[in-house]
Amino acid sequence: MTGKTVATINSTGRQAASFIRAASAVGWHVRAQIRNREGMVAEELAALPNVDLIEGDLEGPQRPALLNHLFAGAKIAFVNTVHWGDEVAIGRACADAAKRAGVAHYVYSSMPDHSTFGHDWKALPMWASKFAIENYVRQLGIPATFVYTGIYNNNFTSLPYPLFQMDLQPDGSFIWQAPFHPDDPLPWLDAEHDVGPALLQIFKMGPNHWKGQRVTLAFEKLTPLQCCARFERGVGRPVRYVHGPIAIKVQIPSGYREQLDILQETLGKNRAPYFGPDLEYPREGRSIWEGHRGIEEYAREAFPIEEYANGLRWMEEEGSATPSVAGSEFDDGESEADPRGSRPMTPAGRPMPMHVTGAYTPKSHPEGLDASFFVGSM
Ligand code: NAD
Repeated sequence: MTGKTVATINSTGRQAASFIRAASAVGWHVRAQIRNREGMVAEELAALPNVDLIEGDLEGPQRPALLNHLFAGAKIAFVNTVHWGDEVAIGRACADAAKRAGVAHYVYSSMPDHSTFGHDWKALPMWASKFAIENYVRQLGIPATFVYTGIYNNNFTSLPYPLFQMDLQPDGSFIWQAPFHPDDPLPWLDAEHDVGPALLQIFKMGPNHWKGQRVTLAFEKLTPLQCCARFERGVGRPVRYVHGPIAIKVQIPSGYREQLDILQETLGKNRAPYFGPDLEYPREGRSIWEGHRGIEEYAREAFPIEEYANGLRWMEEEGSATPSVAGSEFDDGESEADPRGSRPMTPAGRPMPMHVTGAYTPKSHPEGLDASFFVGSM
């Protein structure tokens, strides 16, 4: 396995960064496009062994040269396009460049277009562009696999972001309000923890194994009620689900508002399955990667740390509310002093788990809410 060279784009994003950490750890060479070197994830990637950061914007006249440089020598690629800029044009340009470079396994992070399923469901615009790119990649004929990602565990935040706010109540409990029917199953994914190892395995099995297949990256199938019960056990406080409209409490980009409106209609009112009617989960993801982090473990280990890093301090206060389900201790199982003495500490005074220290993406800037987070949140 050692010696493989892989190209990635949007490398500071949660999906690509997770993959780069895993690829670097097993000795692969990574050619990682980033927009600039600002931010803690870019700094972290720069310090990883075997990772070449290739700086440049995917929009603009320099794009062909940037992509030719990025894919030079790469035989495999993981491409996750994002909403910023003309996503379809960027997605097509990446596939063209990969074809020119002779990439032998191209993994594209796609999403479904719900208008194609014949049920009068509307397409979620930010997902339909990915499906259009998937179709282009298929037409080009490069050996490709398409991964479909579930809802990230770390979309949850007590900050007032729409759709996944874990709204902290005066009694210390949380409420999650969303338009998903309380009994409809949803796919869950800990993107930072599990995208990387799952992709390593997909690449290892190779394009002939997958034959252009769609592969679901989702490790738990939980209704909103089940999700809240597990979150409650993890965080050790009551978590209640409210089936209701998406609350917009802060300014959001207009494209994201349209995405949320249609999500509310298609996945909420019309109860369309998240991946559409055909794709199954979580058996497939679990057969690829057995070490996933579920929502309960996320809520116990990572959520309080992310919240703390976002300037929130509820985890230091004794919540007057007690969970209705027997709660697990806030115990990361790593209470011994770190021999290198360099690990940050959790709010409970224990060394932070390694996968959290290496994987945390802040949701907000100190000066205010970070608009870029909205667009990543489905
Ligand atoms: P992320 O949200 O963690 O980070 C955003 C990335 O976009 C960064 O790498 C950033 O550098 C990059 N970017 C490119 N141009 C930018 C610009 N002009 N301004 C700001 N940032 C810019 O990324 P991610 O989570 O790896 O991928 C996001 C994609 O994943 C989105 O298209 C989203 O629809 C999709 N997705 C998300 C979920 C979820 O639950 N959050 C589920 C399925 C799919």
